[in-house]
Amino acid sequence: MANYHPSDELLMQFSAGQMPNALGIMVACHLETCHHCNRRIKVYEQLGGEIMQDTAPVEVGSNVLSELLLKLDKPETEESSAQKPYASVDPRIPRPLSRFVPSYFDQLEWSGMSRSIKEFELPISDTQYSAKLYKISAGKELPVHTHKGNEFTLVMDGSFSDKAGDYHQGDFILADTQTVHQPKAADNADCICFAVLDAPLKMTGFFGRMLNPFLS
Ligand SMILES: [Zn+2]
Repeated sequence: MANYHPSDELLMQFSAGQMPNALGIMVACHLETCHHCNRRIKVYEQLGGEIMQDTAPVEVGSNVLSELLLKLDKPETEESSAQKPYASVDPRIPRPLSRFVPSYFDQLEWSGMSRSIKEFELPISDTQYSAKLYKISAGKELPVHTHKGNEFTLVMDGSFSDKAGDYHQGDFILADTQTVHQPKAADNADCICFAVLDAPLKMTGFFGRMLNPFLS
């Protein structure tokens, strides 16, 4: 059970169907295993339905989440026809994301930001958000950094910690321009996260200045 959840604002946007992007996929991934947020989503859907009923005689779909998931599962339209759905994927990858990840985590073509920090670009970035998988080797840490915008992270395997807490599978974490942190993977396993950024990371300190060109 996750300890860190999307904000009310994000869940409201999601339940109103206003998140047709990488961030929406991340929220859907969190909802797969979070009963707490599923209950909240139901309330927002109900509220949304009532507001709509008060303002206009328009019927509102009873279950926005299942509709969105259905949409994500649908066979591709023309633009995405080159993107084949992947039949066999790592069970650690939540269903809403699995069609965008071509293989098991261990077999992905990770590119190196450094020997202990790897990334895999996801084909769901757009002009608003860039989406990646990050892998931090067991016991290793990212350079200290802050953010030019918002960075949303969903832990998919292993765990990591920073000075604000410990994060495990299913946890949904927001870091913003106020956050200066140094995530460190737990010693016992590599940590794999799904990250959605609305602006590139901004490294601080000497190593940050060295690494920054590779992160933009
Ligand atoms: Zn939740």
